[in-house]
Amino acid sequence: MAHTAQVAIGDATIHYDKLYTYLVPEALRGQVFCGSMVLVPFGRGNAPRPGVVLELGESGQSAGLKPLLDAAPEDARLTPPLLELVRFLKERTFCTWFEAVKAVIPYGAQYEPGTENGRPVLKNRLAQPLERVYALTGALPEKPKPGPRQLAAVAALRDGPLTQRELAEQGIGKPTLDTLCQKGVLTVSERRPAQDLLANLPFDPQPLMLSPAQSAACAPLLEDLHAGAPRAALLYGVTGSGKTAVFEQLISETLAMGRTALVLVPEIGLTPQMLRRLKARFGSRLAVQHSRLSNTERLLQWRAIQHGEADIVVGTRSAVFAPLSNIGLIVIDEEQEHTYQSESSPRYSAHDIAKKRAAQENALLVLASATPRTETFYAARTGRIRLVELGERYGGRPLPTVGFIDMRAELTAGNPREVSARLVEELARNLQKGEQSILLLNRRGYHTVALCADCGKTLDCPNCSVPMVYHKPRHALLCHHCGHLLCPPPETCPACGGKLVYSGFGTQKVEEELGALLPTARILRMDQDSTGRKNAHARMLGRFARGEYDILLGTQMVAKGLDFEKVTLVGILGIDSLLFGQGFRAYENVFSLITQVVGRGGRAALPGRALIQTAVPGHPVLQRAAAQDYPAFYDEEIAFRRYGLYPPFCAFCVVGFSGAQEGAVLAAARRFAALLAQNAAQQPALPLRVLGPVPMNIALLAGKYRYKLTLKCRNDRAFRAFLRKTLADYDAEKLAASAAVTLDFHSDGDL
Ligand code: ADP
Ligand code: ZN
Repeated sequence: MAHTAQVAIGDATIHYDKLYTYLVPEALRGQVFCGSMVLVPFGRGNAPRPGVVLELGESGQSAGLKPLLDAAPEDARLTPPLLELVRFLKERTFCTWFEAVKAVIPYGAQYEPGTENGRPVLKNRLAQPLERVYALTGALPEKPKPGPRQLAAVAALRDGPLTQRELAEQGIGKPTLDTLCQKGVLTVSERRPAQDLLANLPFDPQPLMLSPAQSAACAPLLEDLHAGAPRAALLYGVTGSGKTAVFEQLISETLAMGRTALVLVPEIGLTPQMLRRLKARFGSRLAVQHSRLSNTERLLQWRAIQHGEADIVVGTRSAVFAPLSNIGLIVIDEEQEHTYQSESSPRYSAHDIAKKRAAQENALLVLASATPRTETFYAARTGRIRLVELGERYGGRPLPTVGFIDMRAELTAGNPREVSARLVEELARNLQKGEQSILLLNRRGYHTVALCADCGKTLDCPNCSVPMVYHKPRHALLCHHCGHLLCPPPETCPACGGKLVYSGFGTQKVEEELGALLPTARILRMDQDSTGRKNAHARMLGRFARGEYDILLGTQMVAKGLDFEKVTLVGILGIDSLLFGQGFRAYENVFSLITQVVGRGGRAALPGRALIQTAVPGHPVLQRAAAQDYPAFYDEEIAFRRYGLYPPFCAFCVVGFSGAQEGAVLAAARRFAALLAQNAAQQPALPLRVLGPVPMNIALLAGKYRYKLTLKCRNDRAFRAFLRKTLADYDAEKLAASAAVTLDFHSDGDL
């Protein structure tokens, strides 16, 4: 009998995504397991491709089977529970086998194809552990005139040395750096990448005394933790109620039981804070997983986890796949955040994976939030998961008071500014008292639209149907979706030659306005443009926490989870446009965003206040958010969901189509709808409503036309089989060539 392996192959498109059978050659016997990374000859040219073994078998028929070329060492393989997650992803999200594999193993953990003595082999990416570091050591000569890349490189290095990878992330390539080194402007050195990422965080365990409310919340969760069976609970606690202390208690108990804990936070910016707290309390058996780590860092962390050197893993969405074993506790903090849903294939939700892992490991899953997702609160209210409440802030501190500033009145009163007179007054008062303020504006850039005064057209990106945004520091128009750049910004309309009028405001404009109105204020702007650099995020927050700034102005990254003692004023700008978003979660998102940012104020001894600038102060969602009355908001929202048939009363699946020819994309989407109808006719018991096809909100993205169908259905095995059949039919008609199709069970339709 010949030994065979069923392999999922890298970079397969959906058309030929199946498992391929290979022969395990004599030389590799005993080295190939389920979950092993292997190198296989693929296609007519037998080009070496990486793959992962999903099944092993024996076959009497070995003729015609190609042999595996190489296999990675055993310790690099996926463990059985992780392999089960690969299958789970494939079944739930309609991704390719290898997409599932890649989600489960971080990029860095993979071996890459290489050659040794002319023979194709798998090479460990860690084999080159040195990284190149560039430093500015000379002046840039004025002649010959330096190009934009050279200028960018010099500007980037002004604050200190950066690695080649960090520079590459800013679009500065090695040729530019080489040239600058030759000119004596830069010098390069090599160093070993830092291994202990947490080395400079202090280990300083302080006794933690839970308040009576926190103890009461902990008790049932501890009971679940000891149950030895899969459990799930919602920890619903107002902002500042001290949910983190409850996590710490649960983690402590988990470790005492000899088990491990996984803690997810919604964004990278929140990892340092969580790491600092957990390192202080639990010491260094702590690992981190998120996408801003370098491949080497990520792999080293991954290995440490896999080798059992970490008891606690902290990270963002992808950390849900951390190779921890014997998990006793999984925490999803700020569980309402959309960042827990992946927007590219595999389109999974960390909630689903966490639930699956809790089931595999008999662990407790704790979802925590001050504004849970409507579905989660519904599950808790109806007893499907446990509901635990923390109704008051820690230490009995009051929630901030919230007021509105009517922007229509501001306009009538002749204030043309984006920041109202009242808010400026309050900011000035805080400045005087030496207290800090946070301003939320969820739009980056300076002017957000350029409109032609003659033809009335907005200046859109040529590749995307969205307006170009003016960025003042770069003196350029930028597309926030594909990165298309127009520099300098045009003054006349490209369509008719009329005069372009720039309007709309983003964080850069508000920063400038505040600078003029409050010249002594030290303002820190935090958005994607100002935090591009590695660790910029953490550094900025650290400086704000140390009181080096008076006002923190930024996009939603300033709204969430941060805990600063001296913040007593929160201002919310430009929230109205979010209220009129397209997805069925628009209200939930606005309610949550306001609650979160308002909750940043008055967390310590000083009481907080918040002001919302809006043209619709009477809007029920704003009213509920101002009253910080989540239960009232939930009651209205769940009624709307029931009435309009949205989750949790059905599953909601967006089928997206995209391609270069608009007509062909629409035709393909129509055909898919017809195939759905045809297949549904065979199964009349299957609940299904199909809406569309309609163009997506962003109908053109990066040069691709986009349409969508919206399905209201049931996300169960039978329905997924039905979808799979429809996808196969679509494929059989070769429609994928004109429109690539994606399925997303986690989108709220706002795309
Ligand atoms: P949440 O995540 O619920 O918004 P946090 O966990 O950030 O709230 O806690 C709010 C504040 O109260 C923090 O400054 C935290 O240090 C403090 N705090 C909470 N619980 C305790 C406790 N048991 N002992 C001391 N301080 C606490
Ligand atoms: Zn674009």
